Amino acid sequence: MRPQDILMPVAAGLCCKVGGFHIDPVRPVERAIITHGHSDHARAGHGAVLATQETLDMMRLRYGDNFARSTQAIRYGEEIRLGDVKIKFHPAGHVLGSAQIAVSCKDTCIVTSGDYKDAIDPTCTPFEAVPCDVFITEATFGLPVFRHGDAADEVKKLLASVALFPERAHLVGAYSLGKAQRVIALLREQGYDAPIYLHGAMEAITRYYESRGVALGELRVVKGMKKADLAGTITLAPPSATSDIWTRRFPDPVTAFASGWMRVRARARQRGVELPLVISDHADWDGLTATIEATGAGEVWVTHGQEDALVHWCKSRGLAARPLDLVGYGDEEESEVVAADEAEA
Ligand SMILES: [Zn+2]
Ligand SMILES: [Zn+2]
Repeated sequence: MRPQDILMPVAAGLCCKVGGFHIDPVRPVERAIITHGHSDHARAGHGAVLATQETLDMMRLRYGDNFARSTQAIRYGEEIRLGDVKIKFHPAGHVLGSAQIAVSCKDTCIVTSGDYKDAIDPTCTPFEAVPCDVFITEATFGLPVFRHGDAADEVKKLLASVALFPERAHLVGAYSLGKAQRVIALLREQGYDAPIYLHGAMEAITRYYESRGVALGELRVVKGMKKADLAGTITLAPPSATSDIWTRRFPDPVTAFASGWMRVRARARQRGVELPLVISDHADWDGLTATIEATGAGEVWVTHGQEDALVHWCKSRGLAARPLDLVGYGDEEESEVVAADEAEA
């Protein structure tokens, strides 16, 4: 069977006709399989949703109990049959509950990675390379200039700045789902045991991580704190909040931003980021290419970002490769809009 007869990009997303489902659909469909909880991948309004328990819980947190007509939870390594295909979930190492989805039909296996990273992350199950015939990879950081380095070193930079400026507050812009909890866990790994403060918009998801057994130490919400009492503290906030009037409640804040894009100095300057922290929940160039090799796939479909360089790299290695023109997926590393009712949180 040709791979494109198993999975095909359509307006609603990646469609599996023989299995009767879409993966991460951007429009409402009868049956959706969801890779992870980020809002561009996990949308409300589908009929049946199949995903990990964590992803289902995150959707419930964001959209309320009626986000789908019915839901089914699946574990990593578990296999189920849908129509003429078999589905298996594998850890993607991107955020808590994130999964790659292997779709097998007869003797052809296609793995959709969703978003992934091969770097170690104390807040989620490690990425696992899955042998397959066709690998669908994201390419958010699909250029050789992107090498993320060790996230622990970036967190050490943050702690050095806190030690250097005890009279200032440190505000760290970080995406609410995944990045914020990872930065907190990395700070704890470095032995930082003071309370860490949260913007109100990230409290629910962070408490959810804790409920799933991710230890994050003492956390407090910023709301109600006196300005002077925030000197020498670290606060995590959605990236957009670090540049608005919300920051006035902090004493002379040092603005940091945790993102793979902080490798690009101009981006940091443009955003007024004083302390760029190169911490990404996506694979860097070396991670992308090493993963493609590890899957043993003879064919690679590239989506979600900088497709061209990766397609070229694959072809130079004798692999069949093409960009997949999927639309509707954002870049959670870049920004996050905070709802108006959360802005004062
Ligand atoms: Zn994502
Ligand atoms: Zn994505």
